Amino acid sequence: MMLQVLRFPNPLLRQKSKPVTTFDDDLQRLAAGMLETMYREGGIGLAAPQVGQLKQLIVVDLHAGDEDQATRSPRFYVNPVIRDRSGETMTNEGCLSVPDFTADVTRAQSIKLEYQSTSGDTVREDLHGLAAVCLQHEIDHLRGKLFIDYLPPLKRQMVKQRLVKQARTA
Ligand SMILES: [Zn+2]
Repeated sequence: MMLQVLRFPNPLLRQKSKPVTTFDDDLQRLAAGMLETMYREGGIGLAAPQVGQLKQLIVVDLHAGDEDQATRSPRFYVNPVIRDRSGETMTNEGCLSVPDFTADVTRAQSIKLEYQSTSGDTVREDLHGLAAVCLQHEIDHLRGKLFIDYLPPLKRQMVKQRLVKQARTA
């Protein structure tokens, strides 16, 4: 199931997503569709609101870009909550909803994450480095926040104007 990735400035990207309460086939189908879409678009993470579903569901695969599909390792995070964060790291981030733009963003180096699996089991996990950064970026999506929001105000304004113009002509 291929899904359409919403692009900035689509207003759905600014909405807050709701917790998942039903762990059924529809959720599995949505997760599988998001994964397929993320691989097709060449991302390493995708949050449900990016495909217009305001649900607290994230798919991640840090190996999505590998030549060898055998090393792929898809992960699903339902209702994720960051319980603790430590350290700092700067990463050049991009986003499937903000095409052709990257920016350095400073985030926690390590996080303690609590989430549910797609079958509803509670999982606790410590994440570091790129995995931690990716989850923080995706969890922001669930709160209607985008990585360009971290830019200094003047730069942010310039970038947003450019992206709006770009979206109009696309
Ligand atoms: Zn993103």
